[in-house]
Amino acid sequence: MSELNPTGLGLRDSSGPKEEWFKDDSTGESLVRMGDLVFPPRKVWIKTFGCQMNYHDSERLLSHLKNLNFTQTEVVEDADLVLFNTCAVRDLANNKFYSHLGNLKHQKKENKGLVIGVGGCVAQTEGKDLIKKYQHLDFAFGPDTIDSINDMVFRTYAGDSKFSVNSWDRSSDFSIDTKITHGTPQAFVNIIKGCNKYCTYCIVPYTRGKERSRRLQEVYDDVRKLVEYSGIQEVMLLGQNVNSYGKENNESLAELIMKLEDVNGLELLRYTTSHPYDVSDELIAAHGEAKKLSRHLHLPVQSGSATVLQRMNREYTPEHYLGLLEKLRKANPDIVLSTDIIAGFVNETEQEHQATLDLLDKAQFDFIYSYAYSERSKTRASRWEDHLTDDIRGARLREIQAHQLKIQANIRAKMVGNTYRILVSGSNIFKGEKKWKGRTNCNRIIHFLPETDEQNLKWHWADVRVTEATALSCQGELVKDWGRRAPKGESVDYKLW
Ligand code: SAM
Ligand code: SF4
Repeated sequence: MSELNPTGLGLRDSSGPKEEWFKDDSTGESLVRMGDLVFPPRKVWIKTFGCQMNYHDSERLLSHLKNLNFTQTEVVEDADLVLFNTCAVRDLANNKFYSHLGNLKHQKKENKGLVIGVGGCVAQTEGKDLIKKYQHLDFAFGPDTIDSINDMVFRTYAGDSKFSVNSWDRSSDFSIDTKITHGTPQAFVNIIKGCNKYCTYCIVPYTRGKERSRRLQEVYDDVRKLVEYSGIQEVMLLGQNVNSYGKENNESLAELIMKLEDVNGLELLRYTTSHPYDVSDELIAAHGEAKKLSRHLHLPVQSGSATVLQRMNREYTPEHYLGLLEKLRKANPDIVLSTDIIAGFVNETEQEHQATLDLLDKAQFDFIYSYAYSERSKTRASRWEDHLTDDIRGARLREIQAHQLKIQANIRAKMVGNTYRILVSGSNIFKGEKKWKGRTNCNRIIHFLPETDEQNLKWHWADVRVTEATALSCQGELVKDWGRRAPKGESVDYKLW
């Protein structure tokens, strides 16, 4: 039987039909009964666009669908159910989704039993139109309804397709337990949903709704269980604006981080994404005190110009932002910082653009994610007349990226000769050789050769000495393989990270 979430990311209540597993006596096959339907083993193919939050939501969808006898397939042609988890933040991901969806028309023609659903942020705002426009689409569902996926899939198999659900979960608490479907030691743990900030360019408050936080004790118990029962060693706390976590309950991110320090077996704690406005002194202090907290912080600035930040409704100035970096570096001299930049915001002047290049020089980020401004309907900025052309936007984006690469190359060069402890996550072929890779505590990826070709280092902790580092890649050599568990008592040796 699947577990029910009374107040989670969804609207599922206890009144509908529930999944029940049973064995077919004649074939020995495991089947699931839900209401008057029997679900044989089926395959689901899921395509995720966008941020870590969406990847986390997809994992949640998969974990529910397991209870309905679905297993995941990587081959879309083998699928009985196709799901898209969409992102509406920028045009690019949006366009990719539309082209994928269009391509499925032929597959549905050949396989009439194929069920196709669209979830996520695009479905929240455009679900009804999508259903009308795409004949081969069966259902659409917003991000706040994902815990009801089995009810929606049941509904389509019961013959009621062509529906869209984009309701908000209005229960007072945000309460869930983390579901993982993978066998890795890393888990995403959602601590806050929605966003109240209404930056003038951003669609998120319209697709993910108002901020609501889980209670601190619930998150603590959830993480403890993940570590104890599922062998999780690294946790990423997730939310659109994790820095405002707990406000409605008089709790805070800093408090949560410090509390998670005493989860035995948890090696590394990360969090994303942050808004500079809500970075408190307590949080800065936690970056100096918490031994398990990653020494990397992603703190999106968006622009280096005070006037652009004002038009973006970001509620801070470049000076305030740089002041935060200074305090963070004082609290933890080893901290590594990164950011997001939007190039060519509405009517950005050349002078405003130069201010961003200037901020990059001052901030010395380890890396940046940068995007050309993409107009999103419903947002305030989309209603303003905009004189900037896409060509100028593109040129400014390239200039920002080239400028940052120079800064980054200098910073990364300092890694050469240092030994870092990494959690090895996989391998690739690099110039004809198989190399393993993993992330350091401060979120830098290092590639390295194994001692022998047969050596399987996946999800091992390894100490790796950096031999070569450029702006975009870091090569190293294996110093020590610790196996699947981080060595006890040495996990806080700063020289190794
Ligand atoms: N909550 C985070 C914050 O306050 O910065 C960011 C979350 S947002 C979903 C991720 C990134 O997408 C933003 O930091 C911003 O750089 C980018 N982004 C959001 N809306 C955008 C737009 N309309 N055009 C270009 N980039 C955008
Ligand atoms: Fe979007 Fe982040 Fe601003 Fe919220 S804080 S509106 S998620 S950019």
